[in-house]
Amino acid sequence: MEVLVTGGSGFIGSHLAEHVLAETEHDLHLVDDFSTGDRGNVAGLTDEARVTVDELDVRNAAAVREAVADADVVYHLAAAVGVELVVDEPLRSLRTNVQGTENVLDAAAEDGTPVFVASSSEVYGKSTAVPFGEDDDRVLGPTTVPRWGYANAKAMDEFYALAHHAENDLPVVVGRFFNTVGPRQIGDYGMVVPTFVEQALAGDPITVYGDGTQTRSFTHVADTVRVVHDLMTTPDAMGKVVNVGSANPVSINELAERVLDVTDSDSRIEHVPFETAFGDDFEEPRDREPDVSRLRETIGWAPDGDLDRILADVVAERPEETEVSA
Ligand code: UDP
Repeated sequence: MEVLVTGGSGFIGSHLAEHVLAETEHDLHLVDDFSTGDRGNVAGLTDEARVTVDELDVRNAAAVREAVADADVVYHLAAAVGVELVVDEPLRSLRTNVQGTENVLDAAAEDGTPVFVASSSEVYGKSTAVPFGEDDDRVLGPTTVPRWGYANAKAMDEFYALAHHAENDLPVVVGRFFNTVGPRQIGDYGMVVPTFVEQALAGDPITVYGDGTQTRSFTHVADTVRVVHDLMTTPDAMGKVVNVGSANPVSINELAERVLDVTDSDSRIEHVPFETAFGDDFEEPRDREPDVSRLRETIGWAPDGDLDRILADVVAERPEETEVSA
């Protein structure tokens, strides 16, 4: 049995690859365009006879068809992600996120190959009806705000996946990832946890955007990939849209304090207006928290969102910390 992971050398993809390798006897084919994915993430896996890593851009339909034809199950995680990247390179983000997913699903439909489609809590937009349930209304801003292009691209991916399920009986699961964090995530594209940890360890100011009262629910990547694998091995999950996250919201101010504690840092907290960070045409969801009932009903558990464990694991992988503890 061969498992194909697109975005296989990315943050979540590489953790998923390790999980599948540990839990199954399957062969793994990891493909990535190495734009935001890093070969270093899978360096430890390339010696495994069961693992193949190839460069592939999901916008290339022919290459996708070839890779999917050999696979028995596909985890489609390749995407342009991160608020900064999506805002700075909207065209590339849209192409990768819309065409890429179409290519994967169309190819999978040829043989009826099951597909996990990675969607995002961004699809809920700026809805204030927390916690967000999968069938809730979505509240999106205007098309002149690039961020909502990402939300819409991911929503199109969902429509496409569900349409393939309805018309072709394609076994698909749509997972809406909430803020997933953990080792190997980089702050380059604006993600808050690696950014704060880097700032704290360097003694730089912690840049809290806005007044910091906005909330997020963080999930350890190790839990996220267990959820994803459990969903794809649960027949009852097919055809469903499922929130993948934990119901444990924390304010960004509190997150900053917890990062300072765990890193034992003297950095000060600096509140930066959103307009300074992103310009005038920026909007973001205020509070974001998943309703995890469907996840629990489907696979029998949901991650606990233990922020102390998450931060401890993120800090432990940093070179600075290794030097301190060596
Ligand atoms: N954030 C912040 N400082 C940073 C990066 C992010 O205060 O340097 C905030 C951001 O405005 C949001 C939260 O942290 O409220 C999570 O941001 P991230 O980009 O990680 O994920 P999002 O939930 O926005 O997709």
